[in-house]
Amino acid sequence: MAHGKPRIVVLATGGTIAGAATSDVHARYTSGQVGVAHLLAAVPQAGELAALHGEQISNIGSQDMNDEVWLRLARRVNELAAQSDVDGIVVTHGTDTIEETAYFLNLVLKTAKPVVMTASMRPPTALSADGPLNFYNAVAVAANAGAAGRGVLVVINDWIHGASSLTKTSTTAVQTFLSPLRGLIGTVAYGNAEFYRGPVGRHTVESEFSLDGVTTLPRVDIIMAYENMDGALIDAAVAAGAKGIVIAGVGNGNMTAPALATLSAQAKKGIVAVRSTRVATGLVGRNVEVNDDELGLVASDDLNAQKARVLLRLALLKPRPLTDIQRLFAEY
Ligand code: ASP
Repeated sequence: MAHGKPRIVVLATGGTIAGAATSDVHARYTSGQVGVAHLLAAVPQAGELAALHGEQISNIGSQDMNDEVWLRLARRVNELAAQSDVDGIVVTHGTDTIEETAYFLNLVLKTAKPVVMTASMRPPTALSADGPLNFYNAVAVAANAGAAGRGVLVVINDWIHGASSLTKTSTTAVQTFLSPLRGLIGTVAYGNAEFYRGPVGRHTVESEFSLDGVTTLPRVDIIMAYENMDGALIDAAVAAGAKGIVIAGVGNGNMTAPALATLSAQAKKGIVAVRSTRVATGLVGRNVEVNDDELGLVASDDLNAQKARVLLRLALLKPRPLTDIQRLFAEY
């Protein structure tokens, strides 16, 4: 910020925060209905915190998030962040996959400037819509020099989460995001931010990942473990072109013996297989109940299955020994 207010660019991707319903008390609504100009006009108070400029990246429910939007969004953030007349970036998004997009950006952005994502659980047309205050708080955090160097942050319901830690825990409640293992980065109340700690794990300028020259990301599928599981879905994923598989295992990344045998057989043929968990919190440790060394598997450490998939896709952009992939799960 040379003089005056911080200059913040708002990149809108859609979601409930840009949704609309025909009734203010009906659960039925559609994501991604209103554009970025409407978002900015709906919260004029945010314009007192920063000079805002809006751009529309997409207008989709985040259940439809895809690689094309990811790559475009990441490149645009990198471009804007490199400009001397941009002090910070806010990305509006749906809540369904914000944790994946935040983690992806956290790994591929090359900036220490604040990049803050926000979302809402209720559309702007609802009674007690949560989007306007979330947006105001996100702008306040992006305009705050204290947010710099902390990687991609997600501001929602007065809390500031790190991209690697947050996860959606309720399908409908406004208080849906928690950062169970790594904890909150800070809080923000009506624009007043307090930062408690930095994020754990490498990110942004310290990340070894880059999108330079990348046009597609390798396919990685997630398969949930369950009672009586066999290896059919694992083989089907490989047949569909998966280069990596993440198992959302039971407990500490476990699965039935037949599933484990199929997974290990695929791993020995070159598919990278990561054991994560379907449990809400907790680490998946290497060589605990499963002998990863012998079976040729990787343990996800504290990444849930959806974030393990993001890290594995980036890891598979170049050939790496399994020990290196396991290192990534410890460091990011
Ligand atoms: N399905 C919506 C989305 O992720 C939900 C939300 O934004 O809260 O876009």
